[in-house]
Amino acid sequence: MGLFENIKNFFTPSSNSKIVKLYVQDKKCGNKMRVVLRKGYDIQRIYKDDVEGKYQISKVLVCDKCYNNIVIDVKFDKNYNVLDRSIENGKFITEEEFQNRN
Ligand SMILES: [Zn+2]
Repeated sequence: MGLFENIKNFFTPSSNSKIVKLYVQDKKCGNKMRVVLRKGYDIQRIYKDDVEGKYQISKVLVCDKCYNNIVIDVKFDKNYNVLDRSIENGKFITEEEFQNRN
């Protein structure tokens, strides 16, 4: 009976390696948001040799509470570790800070 083993294989681990999660807080109203980025879709490959980093994303986030525009710019290395990041109209927070909202 290999049935249960077969079923187990249908479930992928919860830490999906195809996505990168960032957490930001709106400076205007304090709203905390999770940003889910898809590798290869939202995050663009950097082809320039003179730029540090392999992947980059520039994105305008709209706060779902006050519609403030938050601009993020993040660079990643080849393993999607954050190398450099900047943000306007908000700040980056940790996952713990995001979970402790309310
Ligand atoms: Zn807001």
